[in-house]
Amino acid sequence: MEKVVEVNNLKKYYGDIKAVDGISFDVYRGEIFGMLGPNGAGKTTTIEIMEGLRIQDSGEAKIFGLHNIHDREKIKMHIGVQLQETSFIENLTVCETVKLFRNLYNKVGDEAHLISTFFLEDKKNSLIKTLSGGQKQRLSILLSLINDPDTIFLDEPTTGLDPQARRNIWEIIIDLKRNGKTIFLTTHYMEEAEKLCDRVLIIDHGKVIALDSPERLIKENFEETPVDIKFTQSIESLMFDNLNFVSRTLKEEDVITVYMKNFEENLPSLLNFINLRGLKMKEMKIRKPTLEDVFLKLTGRRIRE
Ligand code: ATP
Repeated sequence: MEKVVEVNNLKKYYGDIKAVDGISFDVYRGEIFGMLGPNGAGKTTTIEIMEGLRIQDSGEAKIFGLHNIHDREKIKMHIGVQLQETSFIENLTVCETVKLFRNLYNKVGDEAHLISTFFLEDKKNSLIKTLSGGQKQRLSILLSLINDPDTIFLDEPTTGLDPQARRNIWEIIIDLKRNGKTIFLTTHYMEEAEKLCDRVLIIDHGKVIALDSPERLIKENFEETPVDIKFTQSIESLMFDNLNFVSRTLKEEDVITVYMKNFEENLPSLLNFINLRGLKMKEMKIRKPTLEDVFLKLTGRRIRE
């Protein structure tokens, strides 16, 4: 497999803050590669170093074998960048904005095609300031494609969007992959990474915690079945901790999660335990473990805390 991105022992400190603290990974052609981590984990710093927007203290970042500092200008020709907050000129229309960006890249061509691909057709003559959050995000991804790049960096492309707008962006990303593009995506939505990414890199405090496909990460970390229970009264998860078929418990708001070993065999014992203590359940949800569970297990906290 051809390596598109190579990052080696990358470090960037801001005084005492180790924003990026020795990160290494490779990205292969044609994959959707996700970088996940909570706020402040070092995602944006890493991505901006790779794009040549920040300079590392040490370590190496290469794209298509090009060095992030020495070959900055060349790298720009191969990559598309959608930044976390794109500033648009609010009084231009969608079409005018696309033309403006094309001119910046000295590209002539078919704005109409790009606009229709991004379902912005009926908005092409609308002013930017009248677009919804989702439409603006779609436009910013469209603009990252204007130089017809091989690799596209999307930094939290669905943050703040409603579920429908988020799914629209997911479709766009899947389509880009279908068209042979390599996608480097940062997100703090675990379900997004699970849905889209071939492999995910989980980072926290500037360090790599895990790197693999979502399926393998889940499989390797979880043999247990998470069971989410809501009770009619307030109880602590602690009371389930000593059951021999429970590996871990967790309480979040009014939901207790019990991670059960050999779930099929042990469910009756759990129900028995609950009954014997006179507890009444409002709701019980038996679910598959997710990347969020993996993250929680590896870091001890939720990604969005
Ligand atoms: P988010 O999900 O909130 O965007 P992130 O994972 O992208 O977070 P970074 O923006 O890379 O995290 O920040 C990593 C750490 O480095 C944070 O503690 C941040 O405050 C710090 N940091 C980032 N840029 C600077 C800077 N220019 N000066 C000082 N500290 C910085």
